[in-house]
Parts: sequence; structure tokens; C-alpha cells
Amino acid sequence: MNAYLKTQDKTRCCGCKACAAVCPTKSVSFVEDSLGFFYPQIDQATCLRCGRCESVCQYHKQPEVHPAIETFAAKTRDADVIQNSSSGGVFTELAKETLSRKGVVYGAAFDSSLRVAHIRVTTETELVALQKSKYVQSDTGGVYEQVKQDIDQGKLVLFSGTPCQVAALRSFMRKPSDSLICVDVACHGAPSPTDFERCKRSIENKYKGKLIRFDFRTKARGWTHMCSFATENDAGKQSVHFVKPYQLPYYYFFLHGYNFRDSCYACPYASLNRVGDITLADCWNVESLKIDFETKNGTSLVLANTELGRRLLDSVSSRLEKKRVDNEFAALSNQPFRAPCKKPERREAALQDVVKNGYRPDGNYLSTKELLIERIKGAIPLGVKKSLRAFLARNKKA
Ligand SMILES: Cc1cc2nc3c(=O)[nH]c(=O)nc-3n(C[C@H](O)[C@H](O)[C@H](O)COP(=O)(O)OP(=O)(O)OC[C@H]3O[C@@H](n4cnc5c(N)ncnc54)[C@H](O)[C@@H]3O)c2cc1C
Ligand code: SF4
Ligand code: SF4
Ligand code: SF4
Repeated sequence: MNAYLKTQDKTRCCGCKACAAVCPTKSVSFVEDSLGFFYPQIDQATCLRCGRCESVCQYHKQPEVHPAIETFAAKTRDADVIQNSSSGGVFTELAKETLSRKGVVYGAAFDSSLRVAHIRVTTETELVALQKSKYVQSDTGGVYEQVKQDIDQGKLVLFSGTPCQVAALRSFMRKPSDSLICVDVACHGAPSPTDFERCKRSIENKYKGKLIRFDFRTKARGWTHMCSFATENDAGKQSVHFVKPYQLPYYYFFLHGYNFRDSCYACPYASLNRVGDITLADCWNVESLKIDFETKNGTSLVLANTELGRRLLDSVSSRLEKKRVDNEFAALSNQPFRAPCKKPERREAALQDVVKNGYRPDGNYLSTKELLIERIKGAIPLGVKKSLRAFLARNKKA
């Protein structure tokens, strides 16, 4: 398999930035393509032709992966953590444990301009910024070098991110280390930061105010994909808005796979064989399991893929409620454990339209049929939806 840097084949570059991190002359920069995705470009004037950028690129190697040793549905016992997490809050418990051992935690956070980048966290107060999924590609510039510095100084590191980011870090580190524990999230794709900027602009235009908070996974109305955000107008008045995915075209595009990088449709990590020591996902269809703890505020699907991962999970066991599930359940409930997301036929046309006209807040990218389906889905009460999902999952198994 050839690397993107040789072939310019976009399906072979996930934008992980490991090539820039290894370059001794800082000759790799990232340039935006016409759809808003960033790809590496080498400055031939300063390049030494040492080949390090190509050899670090995980996208032309077979990833080193592990099948799950143990899989379970789990949630933290801490109600506040659950409320501030996308699913069952298992990530926060792993992170707290790492911090209690004087370790450091890396993950994706919004900055004050609501751009998403990986940051380094050393206290529980800072940890809040890592909680919850930000459905946009996180900038990993400079982060792999920081992790290496921490490991070289003998610190315990918990690194969380998409599987391609975890694979990039492992490739950058070269040698495995028991001080580096990686958590990957089940990931069906990531939109570009520029695309999210367009989404933000469309919201600001619609609500006539500056966007000051964004939450892809509010639990104010239950464990769903409902989104909330806050705007502030010129007079300083703040308002909070709740929207369903189909009412925010960017989010609808994300859930239906329209606005991903080309590499996401050929993702080598979409499988039950994982690059992380631990994998976290939403435990959708939890209703089909016979579980004796409350699951309606969110439950994580957790895969312990290595002994290192299992040991960390064991050490937070008393803070979790959990039940073992089989891998078949995991694969049936989560598409990223089966295969990469399919590229929708209208993907290019839809994205070109967004590039040209921006996101239009009325959701007019959807066909009448799609809008009707979304409206019907939106009108079904959550409880009924969950029972229906459980019924369908049982029948799929049978
Ligand atoms: C781009 C993306 C796509 C996903 N797709 C799916 C899916 O198809 N199916 C599914 O079941 N789950 C998916 N997830 C994972 C899911 O949304 C939850 O993150 C997971 O259930 C863990 O929840 P939690 O309650 O334990 O922790 P939470 O507190 O919700 O999770 C926070 C963790 O997510 C990481 N994270 C947040 N945003 C990003 C980002 N932009 N890039 C990298 N890491 C990030 C943080 O670093 C932290 O480790 C996706 C997550 C992301 C970021
Ligand atoms: S290292 Fe990452 S960003 Fe660089 S070419 Fe490979 S996949 Fe793309
Ligand atoms: S070949 Fe070496 S010097 Fe040139 S861009 Fe790649 S890593 Fe940098
Ligand atoms: S789908 Fe694959 S390539 Fe795309 S962001 Fe997720 S892990 Fe990376």
C-alpha cells in the first residue's frame, strides 16, 4: 500500500499530522482542498528526503490491532459525570484514575472560539473540557511530541482520540510503553474544521448572535443525538437553543456520512480489532440486554482490548455499573465495528453546495422524502423509539 505523500490518493490520508510531527526541518504544512479538508504538502526547498514522514504514516501499514478481551455495557455511578458525558461517562472515570496516579490525560476540547483541538490535562477541573464528543476533526498539531516528552519523563499518559489518531501516536512513539494507555472512540467519520466553521456561521446568522457554547450531545432531554448551543446578541442577551439533528444540516450530514474525509469511507480501523487499549462507544440498543441498572441517561459500550487496558478498567471497577456483553452485540449495534461508512451518492454535490452557499439553517439539503422521514422519527416519543430499537435488535439476532 502506498502512502498519500507518494500517491496523493486522498483515501490514504486521515489528516493525523504525524508526518509533520516527525519532520526534522518542519517542511510539512497542511493545505486545504476545495471541500475544506487539510492535506500535507512538503516544502521541497527545505526537505532532506530522509523519508521519515512516509515511514511514520500509519495509512500505508497494516495497523497493529487487538480483538477485545472483554466487552461490556457500563456507566459511571456518578450522576453528574453521566450528565456531562456522551454516553456512560466511562472516559471520565479512566481519566480521573490516571490523574490520581499523577498522570496526564490527552483528548479533544473546544477552545474559546469553539475550534476543536487536542489538549493536555493535569487536573480534574480541566478534565471537563474533554468530556463529550465534538463531532469535528480535532487538531492534533504538536500533541504527539508532548506525549513523547511526558513518557520520556516517566509520566503515565492516557491518550484519547479517534482510532486514526491513536494509530498515529503509536507510530510516532515507535516503541510500545506500559506508561501509555490509549482509548479510541468508535468512529464512523469526522467532518473538517472548516465545515464546522460554516455550520457555526449559519447558526450565528439565523439566531443573530455570537455562538458562545456548543454541545453535540446535550442530555437535557434524554440520551439522544439532540444538540444544544447558546448565542449572545449585541446587547449581551444570551439564549439557549435545542435542535434535533435534521434541523441542523451539518449534524444531519455527520450522522448520515455526507461530510467526512475521503479516508473515512475507506477507514482501516472500522472493525472489532482495535488500535486502542480500550474502546468506547455509545451502547445503543442497551434496551435489548437484560440489565439490572438504570441505563436511560446513557450507557457506554466498552471494549478492553489489551491487558494494559483491562488493568485500568479493573481499577475503576467500583465506580462503574457494568454487565458483560458479547462481541456480536457490539458489532450489531455499532456500524464502526463492522465496516467503514458508505459514501452517500450525493456527497460531492452536497458538499460543493455547502462550500458555495454555506449551510442553510432550514435543512434544505434534504429531499422531501428525507425530511418527512426525519420529522416522523422526531415525533416518536423516546421510550417508544427505544422499545422499537430493542425489538429490531432482537429480531436481527434471531
Ligand atoms: C468523531 C467521532 C465519531 C464518533 N462516532 C461514533 C459512532 O459512530 N458510534 C458510537 O457508538 N460512538 C461514536 N463516537 C463515540 C461516542 O460519541 C462517545 O465518545 C463514546 O461513547 C464515549 O463516551 P463517554 O461517555 O465514555 O465519554 P465522553 O466524555 O462523551 O467522551 C469524551 C471522549 O471523546 C473524545 N473526543 C471527543 N471529541 C473528539 C474528537 N473530535 N476527536 C477525537 N476524540 C474526541 C475525548 O478526547 C474523550 O476521550 C464518536 C466520537 C467521535 C469524536
Ligand atoms: S501521516 Fe497522517 S497526515 Fe501525514 S500523510 Fe499520513 S495519514 Fe496523512
Ligand atoms: S522527507 Fe524528511 S525532511 Fe522531507 S518532509 Fe519528509 S520528514 Fe521532512
Ligand atoms: S472514520 Fe477512520 S479515518 Fe475517519 S476519523 Fe474515524 S478513525 Fe479516522
